[in-house]
Amino acid sequence: MDPVKRPILFVTGTDTGVGKTALTAWLARCLSVTVPGVVALKPVCTGGRDDARALQEASGKRLSLDEINPWHFRAPLAPLLAARREQKELRLAQVLAWIRSLQKSHPGILVEGAGGLLTPIGEDFDARNLIVALRATPIVACANRLGAINQTLLVLAALPPALVLRARVVLMSLTRETAVARSNVVFLQERLGMDRVHAVPCSACPSQPDRRVGVAIDGLARSLGW
Ligand SMILES: [Mg+2]
Repeated sequence: MDPVKRPILFVTGTDTGVGKTALTAWLARCLSVTVPGVVALKPVCTGGRDDARALQEASGKRLSLDEINPWHFRAPLAPLLAARREQKELRLAQVLAWIRSLQKSHPGILVEGAGGLLTPIGEDFDARNLIVALRATPIVACANRLGAINQTLLVLAALPPALVLRARVVLMSLTRETAVARSNVVFLQERLGMDRVHAVPCSACPSQPDRRVGVAIDGLARSLGW
């Protein structure tokens, strides 16, 4: 794909703690085989920068921690609320300018959101605003457990229709596979299409995916046409 036309991939989620960071890191490693120089960014962290460090590793340490994650706030809260505690203010235009500046020098960009799609990130934006402004392809991570169908469909319903058609859903197994998890995959693939719903099995090691995880991530990467 023409590097200029390659859309930013934006990993958002149905909730916090659903596997966004592991998914973003695995995807960055997988895509770097076909797109050398791909980088994964975490614009805003709260309560620690472990996510940004994981993405820095996955991006082959091409960028500094402050380039991967320019904004970080101490309190483990939604970013807007954590920033307010420090009397700091973050605006959509700042984050857009920073991502676009990196886009000029990198052939592929992945962005991990903070929290879920509508979690307030700055004074005037959430992940949905950022996805729309970047014309990014949304990748919706969801914990593959009872309730995943409803949560996934709610997040898709909150996206603009044009973006829903491009979005990918990734059901992340946080425990060993269950009958519920399998039925979630079958239903969502039936509803949304095989190519748009991917299931990532539970991995023993978050930093190094095993073979089954690798196959699933590879399938997701191919469906994105990278
Ligand atoms: Mg994360």
